[in-house]
Amino acid sequence: MFTCTGYAATAADARLAPFTFERRDPGPTDVQIDIHYCGVCHSDLHQARNEWRNTVFPCVPGHEIVGIVRAVGAEVTKYSAGDRVGVGCMVDSCRECPSCKAGLEQYCEPGARFTYNSPEADGKGHTFGGYSRQIVVDQDFVLRVPDSIDFAAAAPLLCAGVTTWSPLRRWKVGPGQKVGIVGLGGLGHMGVKFAVALGAEVTLFTTSESKVADGKRLGAHRVVISRDSAAMAAEADSFDFILDAVSANHDINAYLACLKLDGTLVQVGAPEDPLPVSVFGLLMKRRSFAGSLIGGIGETQEMLDFCGEHGITCDVEMIRMDEINEAYERMLKSDVKYRFVIDMATLPEAA
Ligand SMILES: [Zn+2]
Ligand SMILES: [Zn+2]
Repeated sequence: MFTCTGYAATAADARLAPFTFERRDPGPTDVQIDIHYCGVCHSDLHQARNEWRNTVFPCVPGHEIVGIVRAVGAEVTKYSAGDRVGVGCMVDSCRECPSCKAGLEQYCEPGARFTYNSPEADGKGHTFGGYSRQIVVDQDFVLRVPDSIDFAAAAPLLCAGVTTWSPLRRWKVGPGQKVGIVGLGGLGHMGVKFAVALGAEVTLFTTSESKVADGKRLGAHRVVISRDSAAMAAEADSFDFILDAVSANHDINAYLACLKLDGTLVQVGAPEDPLPVSVFGLLMKRRSFAGSLIGGIGETQEMLDFCGEHGITCDVEMIRMDEINEAYERMLKSDVKYRFVIDMATLPEAA
């Protein structure tokens, strides 16, 4: 074991603060990574505050990790010291169930081992995430970050990026398709960039006039103000695919009505309360309403490689580690364009 410093929440109502803990030494197939940057995902806030009622404290959040390999175990073949790498939401899975065999580790049947707040492999304690100086991860759950993209701006690709990439690929979004992205936040802004780069005609749906210019800057061909019922009615029956990245409660039927025959709406934002769905809205045009959770390791690498080829990263705002509590408050007000990233060089040497 070695001593690692980080930032943790010690209780649901506690501010995140410096924290010292032990990590395992790298085993034969492990990669030891010096963390350079970690993105701040809304899940971090939910978990730190025990809003999903399953947090084990102390909680070190962070699953949008990029860093440089410091050392590798004797049997590691994929990485070596000095490599630019990333770690996303998962650090292991059973590797044997049908989901794992299909490269969909996020749907692992016994359950994937998540980067933080999951039981450790040795049964002792739980995983600690990327708000820390180093992390040790099995080589099969480490991703390669292309040299051509900015390192800090690549960090949120590991969760926000793949969460939007996975459904766009699963539903084969591409040229000749009319695609809608609902909501322009951490997820939505990546949905716009990816759908445009994949060749679709992209419409951003937003409640806010103030986001029209930004939506266009990010590549959206059209922007529709969803509060405008006449504008929404004009979009009826016309979309092949809609990606809904809104996690607040909202009228899902207004978007289902925009799908044409056999169109699909995939929900990636996660509203806390159930959403009422008009079944007539679905059956009149054989529409589908689906969900999607992050992405597998293979598709995460595919997404990173695509970002390298197309020069795609997230729009980020860099913060110091000690600004994390303020950043959470700003996130709750959607006051971020479009993802906070922690510069891990600002983490105190010792807690
Ligand atoms: Zn996340
Ligand atoms: Zn599995």
